[in-house]
Amino acid sequence: MVHEQSARHFQKSKQYLASGVSSTLRLSMKPMPVFAAGGSGATVTDMDGNRYIDYLLAYGPLILGHAHPGLTAAVCEAAAKGATYGLQHQGEMELAQRLTEALPCADKVALSGSGTEAVMLALRLARAYTGKTKIIRFEGHYHGWADTIFTSFPSPDMQQSASGLQGRNTAGASSAAAGSSAKPGTSGQSAAALADIIVLPWNDVAALEETLRRHHGEIAAVISEPVMCNSGCIAPHPGYLQRMRELTAELGVVMILDEVITGFRLGLGGAHGRFGLLPDLVTVGKALGGGFAVSAVGGKDAIMELIADGTVNHLGTLNGNGVATAAGIATIRELAEGEGAAFVRMERLTERLVRGIRERLAACGMQGVVNQLGPVFHMMFTAESVVESFAAFGNRDAERYARFAELMLEEGVMLRPTGLWYVSAAHEEADIEATLQAMDRALARLA
Ligand code: PLP
Repeated sequence: MVHEQSARHFQKSKQYLASGVSSTLRLSMKPMPVFAAGGSGATVTDMDGNRYIDYLLAYGPLILGHAHPGLTAAVCEAAAKGATYGLQHQGEMELAQRLTEALPCADKVALSGSGTEAVMLALRLARAYTGKTKIIRFEGHYHGWADTIFTSFPSPDMQQSASGLQGRNTAGASSAAAGSSAKPGTSGQSAAALADIIVLPWNDVAALEETLRRHHGEIAAVISEPVMCNSGCIAPHPGYLQRMRELTAELGVVMILDEVITGFRLGLGGAHGRFGLLPDLVTVGKALGGGFAVSAVGGKDAIMELIADGTVNHLGTLNGNGVATAAGIATIRELAEGEGAAFVRMERLTERLVRGIRERLAACGMQGVVNQLGPVFHMMFTAESVVESFAAFGNRDAERYARFAELMLEEGVMLRPTGLWYVSAAHEEADIEATLQAMDRALARLA
């Protein structure tokens, strides 16, 4: 497969665009960051004319696939009326209403442009609501790149941004005490910005309970991905999130579920809807906009009221703009159609794909694990028989997987180099079959 145009454009881009990419983790794609020319449905085409079945899906947002006709029409119509006003408008109200209807824990929502911003707002709300400052987060989770939360490295592609860094985040499994120091995730990040962050191992009820009971007087919030998508797609142990809910409620700590990946992917109600949980606050982004920049914080009235009464500032020039809100409304509408038929299809196709991957790994005697939940899964090469913890995730052969992703690219399948796959509503049976055939060839070359 030729990548001449991508190589040429990447070289030229570096003359003008710092690093040649717009988000550092994109540098990790091998043999080079690919230059897209366009996308349609489940496929993306590069500037050399190579066509790929796409499971990168822009790192998650493209739940409807590329250039979905209904979404594109809605966005074009909104843009033609004026992209943004800095005034209130119908679309903003409609999206907010749809979000409160979809997300079980959201009496009200606030709109922003990215997952990072939504997390920043959720943390601010939690601190204002409780009058406390410390935040518990978990190793292996990712909550965006804001200085106040960016700490550990869930995956090698995010480690790209840490060049020049003094040391890795050392807080974790053995340090369940409040104040365990979280180290910055990148040069240029103030360590002081992380002074209020406590890092705990995830899925460890005892560590959570001990820390909360001992230090709840200082702890404003616990923030958690509901499924550890960013490090191995690891599901919560049965009862773990429920216990988190009970403890936080008992001890006056805000529970935030960061559903930037799982929101509108594990179902219209996100993971909390699927698991029957009611966190105090939830953050959604990525899939919500289907590829356009929109995110939201949703939560119970008592907390969201702090924005309404002016206690908490929520700012952003482009928040709730016409294009973003039209994208959110259209995406939710498409996903809701036929009582959520898209979720059922995505999940069925993903299960078929995962089964095929496991069969192939077994057939060629390669040790690997695939963790799946709904239309998202993590594939890894590892000697572990199961990967249910961040420590076990750390034992995977990341280099081997990156090589596999490169071979798959050569076979016409676009993967994230670290192992997280997304399936969209645009994927079809034939894409899955073609992907598994490509995998047969890639695995043969990898052996
Ligand atoms: N939260 C989670 C769970 C994420 O996975 C991400 C991004 O991958 C973010 C927050 C940050 O979102 P964004 O990249 O839109 O700022």
